[in-house]
Amino acid sequence: MSRKRKYVYLFGERTEGNAGMRDLLGGKGANLAEMSLMGLPVPPGFTITTEVCREYYSKGKYPPGLEEQIKEAMREIEKQLGRRFGDPDNPLLVSVRSGAPVSMPGMMDTILNLGMNDEVVRGLSKLIGERAAWDSYRRLLSMFGNVVLGIPHEEFEKVLSKKRDEENVEFDHQLSTSSLKELVNEYKELIKSKLLRNPPSSGIVANRIKEREIVEFPQNPWEQLLLAIDAVISSWNNPRAVEYRKEERISDKLCTAVNIQAMVFGNTEGGGTGVCFTRNVETGEKELYGEFLPNAQGEDVVAGVRTPLPIKEMEKMFPDIYRELLEIGEKLEKHYRDVQDFEFTIDGSLRKLFILQTRTAKRTPRAAVKIAVDMAKEGLISKEEAIMRVEPDQIDKLLHPRIDESKELRVIAKGIPASPGAASGIVVFDPDRAEELREKGEEVILVRPETSADDVHGIKSSVGVLTAKGGRTSHAAVVTRGWGIPCVVGCEEMRIDDKGKYFETESGVIVKEGERITIDGTTGNVILGKAPMLPPEITPEMKELLGWATEISELEVRANADTPEDARKAREFGAKGIGLCRTEHMFFGEGRIERMRKVIMAMNEKERRKALRELMFYQIEDFKKIFNEMEGLPVTIRLLDPPLHEFLPNPQELLEKVILLKIHKDFPSIREELMNRKEYRGIIEEILSRESEIMEEYERVKTLEEKNPMMGFRGCRLGIAYPEIFEMQVEAIMRAACSLKKEGREVYPEIMVPLTMHESEMKILRELIEEVAERVMREEGVRVHYTIGTMIETPRAAIVGDKLAEYSDFFSFGTNDLTQMTMALSRDDYGPIITQYLEKEILEEDPFFTLDLEGVGELIKICVEKSKGKVKIGVCGEHGGDPRSIRFFHEIGVDYVSCSPYRVPVAILSGARSTLESKRR
Ligand code: ADP
Ligand code: MG
Ligand code: MG
Repeated sequence: MSRKRKYVYLFGERTEGNAGMRDLLGGKGANLAEMSLMGLPVPPGFTITTEVCREYYSKGKYPPGLEEQIKEAMREIEKQLGRRFGDPDNPLLVSVRSGAPVSMPGMMDTILNLGMNDEVVRGLSKLIGERAAWDSYRRLLSMFGNVVLGIPHEEFEKVLSKKRDEENVEFDHQLSTSSLKELVNEYKELIKSKLLRNPPSSGIVANRIKEREIVEFPQNPWEQLLLAIDAVISSWNNPRAVEYRKEERISDKLCTAVNIQAMVFGNTEGGGTGVCFTRNVETGEKELYGEFLPNAQGEDVVAGVRTPLPIKEMEKMFPDIYRELLEIGEKLEKHYRDVQDFEFTIDGSLRKLFILQTRTAKRTPRAAVKIAVDMAKEGLISKEEAIMRVEPDQIDKLLHPRIDESKELRVIAKGIPASPGAASGIVVFDPDRAEELREKGEEVILVRPETSADDVHGIKSSVGVLTAKGGRTSHAAVVTRGWGIPCVVGCEEMRIDDKGKYFETESGVIVKEGERITIDGTTGNVILGKAPMLPPEITPEMKELLGWATEISELEVRANADTPEDARKAREFGAKGIGLCRTEHMFFGEGRIERMRKVIMAMNEKERRKALRELMFYQIEDFKKIFNEMEGLPVTIRLLDPPLHEFLPNPQELLEKVILLKIHKDFPSIREELMNRKEYRGIIEEILSRESEIMEEYERVKTLEEKNPMMGFRGCRLGIAYPEIFEMQVEAIMRAACSLKKEGREVYPEIMVPLTMHESEMKILRELIEEVAERVMREEGVRVHYTIGTMIETPRAAIVGDKLAEYSDFFSFGTNDLTQMTMALSRDDYGPIITQYLEKEILEEDPFFTLDLEGVGELIKICVEKSKGKVKIGVCGEHGGDPRSIRFFHEIGVDYVSCSPYRVPVAILSGARSTLESKRR
């Protein structure tokens, strides 16, 4: 027995669908059915399923029996309302509306007031008034002419605006009935001449026009209806919609449903139409929000025909209806358990409110957080749901100043967004100059080809950093992210002049030192002048949401912090410890780098130890301050990591000095000439006074210079060659810890060895660390709980995780180096490579931003499997702050992630969401 296939679903008094049937009925149709079931005032109608559209596109014709089902449904609506479609005495008019399973706002078409003709308009006049009836007729003609027959909207608009001028009125709703009657005639003429000269030549509509020999606006309501359905179905494939689906990655196969619904008339005296949100979608405030236009129909509100009124105004104009709106809003929210965006119309002839559509409302990040938290507190949703309702990216956006994109901006170049947020300042090319201007109270943007340790003071003095080279893990990117300074890197469209006086963009814009620009570290945009900004927002709701997330999450979140200020910020943002404290930054400060140079220049161990002792006192103070901020929480301190030559003077500059010295000595004639030149005399005198020092430095730099420093003398290799450096650091850590402990404070130092690859390295260094730690504790007469672990940054270390675990209490994956080493992709030079690879779709993502799960991720997984249960496992690379990578870390059993303080909230939320998702599975 074969049952007839059902292509049409009723809603209204009799309802056959519900909200769960989105795929079949489209979002609009499913929600119209749902609202009918809820008992809301929805004009009755029916939905033609998406299956019909799909079948049309696959077979080139409608399924048999469809027209029968449409007629049957229409009879049902007629019966309910006691009116008839096309009946001149008591007419029913309908709208034909598109509606896909996913919202595609404004992409497809809708036609209102169908079923109208020269007879019907007279009957309708008796029902809704003469003016409103003729207004509906002229609206139908222009919509039908545009959507079905493809006549440009402007052609109708031209005729309309002429009418307004003739009558000397500003707005359409002021046009007299006689003008509207004339308009109807003129529109009919326009349509007729178009059909004669230029009829639709292909597509569904064209076929029917040819078949039915239509030469003017069809007076037959059924012909109107079928053509309108054709037009809505073909609007699924209009270029606008196709383009939108491509952008949004929506499948072409979904297809649209078609909703046919009894018209209600807002274009009447005492009528109107509007759009309403159940909460304020800008701020999240619990209040009705939206706009309203009296005596208007359909899209008038959004089309900007007149300026709409704020919804609050309705309270005075229609107090009863406003109260009803409030009730309906509340009902909708309770039912859907989320903020709704709904359309309504007041039919002036019936003095009644109707709801025409509802959907989940889009909202700003700020509103998203507030709404989720408020709804959980109201008991409408659970805390878990609240967490799932906020995207980590939305949190991130709230933590940085943002550019007000609604204003006009002059974008002059684009680079790689490296540290989110926006900043405006005057352009400076030199770090010293940045510092100088900062002291004078200027806000500066440091613009450099790239940055290095020498520029750190300049970065610190700037509100933003822009570099021509480098990627997301370049020096500039890492440093700025750590400090929450907006940064754009790899801006290859920008050329910096050699003397550092200006930069020029590809489009030929020249920006000189002292001129103002704005950089957007969220988009990579470089904007001329000061862009309008919106301030960062750390709302109480956000704090609350993060508190819930921390409770729920199985993943602990720590911060990468090198200074007491960073540590305080991290704690404020909810970090549960420090996962990476980079000690090398402590050697760069004022008065310290000189001492560090002494350490490196020292010719023997004794001299080195003496120089180190001086440094140790600085280190003890640093550690004390950090432990103090992090009282009661673990602090992972990494022993010195960078290559030694980074502490020495720039080899290029040294070489220049050596050459000058040689010239000065060996070429007396040139010497004379040089000494007579003012600009050289000073330099030469300075070099001469430090001659032996310079030569010594030069020799040392030469011996320390490496062909491949990334794989050279760094990490634990340093501590193995010069154990006294690590000894000093361990002593400083333990002295600081003991001193706090003696004051009765809780400290948990975790000492971390960088860049290991073999368990023997750990064996030697563990012995060294334990020996020093025990000695210090003995001398101080107090015991501190401390642990020893290593960073996993080389593929070999990951693979022999079980062996390294024998000498380690914890592991922390340094995913930046691990990615570099695994992919053989230099962090400092990968910019141009990655641009190519992303363009050619060789890689889908920047592997320094989102972890390469299949390669680097697999290595991490292997290591976790081999060492789980033996050591505590963390991640401290840049990926520790990336939501997708965080989910992976959680899934494979990592215990904690550590990221820059400003990303801590993002990581907390990501960890909680991953925990909830894994429980759901
Ligand atoms: P969109 O999906 O682009 O919002 P809609 O199908 O919702 O298009 O319709 C466009 C406009 O027409 C909306 O303002 C809607 O409220 C109005 N409208 C649709 N059907 C009717 C109807 N039966 N009576 C009155 N207004 C209607
Ligand atoms: Mg709509
Ligand atoms: Mg490293």
